[in-house]
Amino acid sequence: MSTKSTQAHGTQDGPDPTSPWTVDVARELSRRPGTMKRWVRDVPAPEDFGLEVIGVPAGEEIHLDLRLESVVEGVLASGTVTADVSGECSRCLGAVAEHVEVTVTELYAYPHSATDSSTDAEEVSRIVNEKIDLEPAVRDAVLLELPNAPLCREECPGLRPEEPGSWAFVPAGAPRERIDPRWAALQERFAGGSTES
Ligand SMILES: [Zn+2]
Repeated sequence: MSTKSTQAHGTQDGPDPTSPWTVDVARELSRRPGTMKRWVRDVPAPEDFGLEVIGVPAGEEIHLDLRLESVVEGVLASGTVTADVSGECSRCLGAVAEHVEVTVTELYAYPHSATDSSTDAEEVSRIVNEKIDLEPAVRDAVLLELPNAPLCREECPGLRPEEPGSWAFVPAGAPRERIDPRWAALQERFAGGSTES
């Protein structure tokens, strides 16, 4: 669903200066290599920040604890990102809530730097108009950490017809009597008509 985009916010003029994901590196950091700045922010999650089954709800805060470092090629952003994700258990459809913590390391290249001119457009993050957009790198890191099939708990047994609450998931009109699994196998064999002679 989500693909890597190098410009989630803004246009060719560079990242949207009003976005909380945008850092004006000219203002925040000297261009002298070795200069560093700690960048700690709580940023609201945009829409669709996650996979279809699990993600950070829009508007929920994503905590960034990053270090911005001036390097010869550009600006290196590294550190940890934490967020609360919620989703749906792939077995019982119950709620899943998790806390994720991921590390991010992203180099934003200066225009015309060696990295900029030797790397394909899609493969490198860039400093555009002295600004960087942290969102794509943070999004990629968080998405990699999310399970494709989330579980409410490791041993989730799935839908349990004997638990009254889970009847809600059985389509109306479906038979509701519980059949002993040992008999169910037999029943299936006889009900479908014998296929073997
Ligand atoms: Zn479950």
